[in-house]
Amino acid sequence: MEKIKLGISTCLLGENVRYDGGHKLDRFLTNTLGGYVEYVPVCPEVECGLPIPREAMHLEGDPDSPRLVTTHTKQDMTDRVVQWARKRVADLEKEDLCGFIFKSDSPSSGMEQVKVYNEKGMPVKRGVGMFARIFMEHFPLLPVEDEGRLHDPKLRDNFIERIFALKRWREVLTRKESRGNVVDFHTKHKLLILSHSPKHYQTMGKLVAKAKDLPLKELYQKYQTLLMESLYLKTSPKKNTNVIQHMMGFFKEQLSSDEKQELLEVIDHYRQEYIPLIVPITLIQHYVRKYDQPYLKEQVYLHPHPSELQLRNHV
Ligand code: SF4
Repeated sequence: MEKIKLGISTCLLGENVRYDGGHKLDRFLTNTLGGYVEYVPVCPEVECGLPIPREAMHLEGDPDSPRLVTTHTKQDMTDRVVQWARKRVADLEKEDLCGFIFKSDSPSSGMEQVKVYNEKGMPVKRGVGMFARIFMEHFPLLPVEDEGRLHDPKLRDNFIERIFALKRWREVLTRKESRGNVVDFHTKHKLLILSHSPKHYQTMGKLVAKAKDLPLKELYQKYQTLLMESLYLKTSPKKNTNVIQHMMGFFKEQLSSDEKQELLEVIDHYRQEYIPLIVPITLIQHYVRKYDQPYLKEQVYLHPHPSELQLRNHV
């Protein structure tokens, strides 16, 4: 797989673009995830023509539609940043991004819970950064996160799973449109989808079963929307346990009663969150290889992202 293109707030890469001339380097993003992604940096404040260093800014007014204002001299930067942002998101369409990682808490780049000050100078953490809002409205289905939330192992696993899934889907889009390509993609992603949303699993199964009744364009569009909606929903020990038990059913004939007992114990320990997901998954992978189970061998659920990232060691 070629590298995944991700947009990112420039300061997270260690570039000295912040208002005080500093940066907010995040080593997980540069050193670890950086091995698999190609970043497209975006710094709204510098790219719209403001200098480094510059006066700090914050959001003011209505949290649903705030103004971007400098904190001391009270210059209103809203129109300048909004105009630039509209052009920038149109340009970003050419980049084929599979997601965006925003800088948390920034009045320009924060994706949620950014402070918005009222007329008395009191903040409420309900705002969205000026550029982040325009980006998310323009690309509603793209996975987005901020570097703060990505310190949470479950959110990190979910985001990285989504960007890898979207990259694989984009590879399908580069091939000639055919119902067979959608069916093939869906077959391999069935258990991954089930681990996020049993409801989407049902709906997408029906969509694919009726693929021949739909115009190709409509099939691709509907499938893509459902795929991104389903993976946005978080997995849980309960949902993963359901999927792993389902996989266990493929080995009914082969496993000895001791092996079954051991697998059931491991699954139950995972369900109770005594051990991480990687443990039952490794045991299932062992049986998939040992018994050469053809359907499970192809399931992306067993390897949704590179194991070097160790994401399932912590969820
Ligand atoms: S938070 Fe956004 S605007 Fe601020 S320095 Fe980082 S990239 Fe630039």
